Amino acid sequence: MASELILEAKGLDAGYGEIQVLWGIDLAVRRGEITALIGSNGAGKTTLMRALSGLIPVRAGRYLSEAEDITGSTAAQILTHGIVHVPEGRRLFGAMSVEENLMMGAYLRKASRAEIKRDLDRVYATFPKLRERGNQQAATLSGGEQQMCAIGRGLMSAPKLLMIDELSLGLSPLLVEQLVDALRVLNAGGTSILLVEQDVTIALDLCHRAFVMDMGRIVREGSGEDLLADPIVRDAYLGVL
Ligand code: ATP
Repeated sequence: MASELILEAKGLDAGYGEIQVLWGIDLAVRRGEITALIGSNGAGKTTLMRALSGLIPVRAGRYLSEAEDITGSTAAQILTHGIVHVPEGRRLFGAMSVEENLMMGAYLRKASRAEIKRDLDRVYATFPKLRERGNQQAATLSGGEQQMCAIGRGLMSAPKLLMIDELSLGLSPLLVEQLVDALRVLNAGGTSILLVEQDVTIALDLCHRAFVMDMGRIVREGSGEDLLADPIVRDAYLGVL
């Protein structure tokens, strides 16, 4: 039977050059859930996503996917485990069309054309705006549409876990609401999500479980509901007591 934990980090250290950013990270992401990572600027959330997607090496600790030890795997190997990263800044191929960007997500898949077409239709059903703009150059999309396209590209990789860095950055409240609704629909359809989100209220409202990071460490963990009610979290991240 497939493990309930899609991803598990145990005592993970990572950083850049001589700088250690992550210290002994313990994190568990359960299948079928939305898991959020919150914390102030510079807490290490993006660095943790980079380490989990193999963009920077893990220096100590263990990294497991569905109970299999994948510590030391390259980004390409991690992708084959269905762990797909939607990076901060979206990183689309600006000169290519929206549909070409989406199809890039399916590039490494060993799937039939029919399966890929079905997944493309599903992305378009989730984000109808992308269908309208399928032939348009990605660089000409609005910020919200770019985020939809980046998430859509991630979905085209048929992820077991979609890791989204900074969902709402630079987007209007209305667009954020649309994206949040889309993530709820995707999750209800079975997609597991690990989300980094600056807006703590949005993150805790959306997620099943959250991990709070501070100075490169996980300092708290709980259900979204419990953390929203936690006086320390409210004081530090919501500015209310
Ligand atoms: P933010 O929301 O501001 O992006 P974050 O929680 O995602 O914050 P990180 O971007 O992971 O935080 O940064 C954590 C620490 O790592 C910071 O002190 C940052 O200066 C440092 N850092 C990030 N990227 C690099 C890099 N490429 N080289 C060296 N240090 C870096």
